[in-house]
Amino acid sequence: MGLIKHFSSHMSKDWAIRVGNHFKTNPPVRIIKRRKVIDSFSMENAFLSNFYITNIYYMKRFWPSVEHAFQASKTFSFKKQEEIRNLPTCKLAKYYGNSLKLRSDWEEVKLDIMYEIVYRKYYDNQWEMRRLINTCGIRLVEGNTWHDNFWGHCMCSSCRSKYKHNYLGKISMRVRREMFKVMPVWLQDQIIKHNGIRYYIKHT
Ligand SMILES: [Zn+2]
Repeated sequence: MGLIKHFSSHMSKDWAIRVGNHFKTNPPVRIIKRRKVIDSFSMENAFLSNFYITNIYYMKRFWPSVEHAFQASKTFSFKKQEEIRNLPTCKLAKYYGNSLKLRSDWEEVKLDIMYEIVYRKYYDNQWEMRRLINTCGIRLVEGNTWHDNFWGHCMCSSCRSKYKHNYLGKISMRVRREMFKVMPVWLQDQIIKHNGIRYYIKHT
């Protein structure tokens, strides 16, 4: 906007005549800054998924994935938690978790629990933490096809009008922000420059 105004005010009369009506009928040019987005937690961004296998220290034990730890948190039964922890795949952990009788306060605590586990996942694992921080300034959205608009954003046509909470994306961005904040300023600037994002960092 500012650029165009500047340009037109310095335009010679001749040029305006030459361009003539063409100039008047053209729609005003607007530069839209597109925000970068990671909308799939797969392939090179699979580390962002809850199904990603890594060591997570939570509830005084190591868990193979966020999914395992999260599903096990649905119950207070130590025996059932251990059964989930020892399941060989995240998919099985999810099935098992969905069959559990939920702890009574589950709805109130589930977001905090997810945050805590996701935090531990990055805090305990240097490589994953580094990968997460390298996405700074990029919006994280767990795009999916299984109609999950609570943790993510379902891309199917029947979900088009539904509100997308994208809580896993939001929690991941919150963890990222918290880790980024405690980094040295010069390193912050380097990461932001690398991502090509115009970003205002308030150093308080
Ligand atoms: Zn859907």
